[in-house]
Amino acid sequence: MLRLVLGSRNKKKLGEMVELLADLPVEVTDLTPYPNAPPVEETAGSFVGNATLKATQLAPVLGAWVMGEDSGLCVPALGGDPGVDSALYAGTHGDDAANNAKLLREMAHLTGDERAAYYISTAVLSDPTGKVVAQVEGRCHGVIVDALRGAGGFGYDPLFLVPEFGKTFGELPPEVKRAMSHRAMAFQQLRPVIERILAVGG
Ligand code: IMP
Repeated sequence: MLRLVLGSRNKKKLGEMVELLADLPVEVTDLTPYPNAPPVEETAGSFVGNATLKATQLAPVLGAWVMGEDSGLCVPALGGDPGVDSALYAGTHGDDAANNAKLLREMAHLTGDERAAYYISTAVLSDPTGKVVAQVEGRCHGVIVDALRGAGGFGYDPLFLVPEFGKTFGELPPEVKRAMSHRAMAFQQLRPVIERILAVGG
């Protein structure tokens, strides 16, 4: 069976990715079985660049198919911030509470359409030699509310309102996020690629 390694250490994000690929006939794993996997510096300055670094640096070391994913939140009225550095917007990597507080501060003076935002997810699939075989991108559009709502999801989800539902990803059940998130949109495009790899025997 084809083993597909998700080259990330963000547990919440990994959980979502595993769910999104769960029905495929592949063994999806995170980096847990690979304690010696080297850390990958996200230095490319772009989502696709960072996703490529994660996939292509890890694949030859692990000798496995690796999917690198890089994602973030972009607010056009803030010039695209938090952007590629979404995880460390307030200074400490992965400090969701501080990141959300900073986003609220930075957007305090913005109203109406200026509060529009989108999530972006870029996924890059590398074969075991480090060759890129697929590169996809998904987006999900919403509005940043003015106070935290709900405790679901992770990261900026309690501030990210999905207009179709009038609720944030923090309030909506995980099934809804799984159906329409940026990650879901990106991964949908990877399915035919993975099916083709399976067809030729991985
Ligand atoms: P990465 O692990 O370098 O790709 O950073 C992703 C960061 O973007 C996370 O730490 C969050 O701050 C933000 N982010 C990406 N996807 C989501 C999401 O689905 N919900 C909330 N925040 C997200």
